[in-house]
Amino acid sequence: MLGSVIPAYIPGESAYSWVSQYFVQSAYSDRNRVCDRLFHHPAIRLHPSLPGHIEATAQAAGVDPQYLLHHGTGFPLYALTLRDKLQVDTLASAMLGEGQGLMALSGQAASKLAFGGVCLKWCPACLREDEQDVGCGYWHTAHQLYGVTACTKHALRLQTLAASAGGIDRQLLLPDPEIPCEPSRPYEQEINLSTYITALHRYLCVQSPTESLAELYQRWLGQQGYLTARGHLRSQPLLQAMTEFWQGLFADITPIVPPGLANYRYVSGLVHGDRSHHYLKHVMLMAFVSRSPAEFFSIEVQQVLPVPPARDAQAVERAVLRWLAEPLSMRQVARQTGYSVGYIKQLALRHNHPVEHRAQRITAAVARGIWRQAFMGVSRQQIAHYHGVSVGAVEAIIQSHQGLSDWRRHLGSVRKLREHRDTLTTYLAQHVDASRGGIEQACRTAFSWLYRHDRSWLYQQLPAPKQSVYHPSVDWAQRDRALVAQLEQLDGEARSLSALERALGRPDWLRKYKARLPLSYALAVRLVAAYAAQHPKP
Ligand SMILES: [Zn+2]
Repeated sequence: MLGSVIPAYIPGESAYSWVSQYFVQSAYSDRNRVCDRLFHHPAIRLHPSLPGHIEATAQAAGVDPQYLLHHGTGFPLYALTLRDKLQVDTLASAMLGEGQGLMALSGQAASKLAFGGVCLKWCPACLREDEQDVGCGYWHTAHQLYGVTACTKHALRLQTLAASAGGIDRQLLLPDPEIPCEPSRPYEQEINLSTYITALHRYLCVQSPTESLAELYQRWLGQQGYLTARGHLRSQPLLQAMTEFWQGLFADITPIVPPGLANYRYVSGLVHGDRSHHYLKHVMLMAFVSRSPAEFFSIEVQQVLPVPPARDAQAVERAVLRWLAEPLSMRQVARQTGYSVGYIKQLALRHNHPVEHRAQRITAAVARGIWRQAFMGVSRQQIAHYHGVSVGAVEAIIQSHQGLSDWRRHLGSVRKLREHRDTLTTYLAQHVDASRGGIEQACRTAFSWLYRHDRSWLYQQLPAPKQSVYHPSVDWAQRDRALVAQLEQLDGEARSLSALERALGRPDWLRKYKARLPLSYALAVRLVAAYAAQHPKP
């Protein structure tokens, strides 16, 4: 019925990819006609991992819509973090249907994690294999997932192609070995993160966990000693451990993931389940506490040591002291007994038990080291971690040196200046014909920063603004009459308003200017109705 070869859906292929395959293999040279055939609208833009029109795509591809929704898009990951079934159903029906408001429904818009623009991603090694195995390259769903930056099979960093306006925009492309790429090796943490996201997506395609994530986090963190006996989060040690765990993700000047993820304050929100957060934040915590999604979701309710009533305080003390006699650190004892480190320390001191001290006093050598790193612009957290002191202590040393704080601010802005200038020049080198508006949209952060802080340089780089064109005033009534005359010849083309508009060579016109072209619009509507009456759908 579609008058083209129907490509087979390849398992693991994204929905966008199948539509591109369909277009490439079809008899059409115009992607708008393909979209009109498939979706009854010419100007569809399909998101690489959060597309709409899944039902129509699935029907054309001959697969189950729910299957395509799960295996061909990032839906399962977004659904996991939504608060209730109603929100999940709303997102599902928007994706199955026209795809209206997906950014808001998926919770993406509110997450403030947007970063680097929407991209199509591929692995050059997978592409070579795919060409051998199935005869062509295709976009893997797993590679398109937000936060996945490495191919976990080949341990290669994924190549990217900007997909929004200013990038490939509405085109339908398949990965192509002709596209120049620079293979690079990802960091170990990057592979870990990509592996976990991919595994989570796969897991959620076949499982629907019912327990709340907050509950699961509390079990995991409790087991690993990051909760006090009263269930409060031990934020400081947790933050330090997570910073260390994910270090490689934030080691480069060009960030691999949104830099906001390195500020682990969102963890407390995840643990208390106060509102929905982006799945990437969840994965940062999940992959920190567990080795795989299957392990994460299978944690049993922990046997919590009963908190002894006050009159049993002596029994508690005896139990803790027994533990302290073992060659264990206070932290380990805290983990075993479920009491806070502070409580155990007090007890140990009261009973003259040796207590290991953290470096409380900062020697002159350490202070010099801290000053040196601060002078180089290293972050407070990293300095604190490096010297084993608190962030507060580092702050105190920075403040005690006059001018150091200003100097660090200056370094920060020089670094930003360089980053943003690099972003812009790289983009300009790759997009020679880009307009000012296109550049602004594609490099939004860099553009607005440079506009505020480095405007003259920015203007030197930008192409000249397009001259506004003088339009003589239009005689709409005359134009309306002329169009009516044209339309009268086109009753055979009246499959839809858009078909008529295309036949007139004026896409979107009739609908856009229907107030100014009342006669043409009314006639067009009549023609479409008459055409429909003569060509009843089977
Ligand atoms: Zn690969």
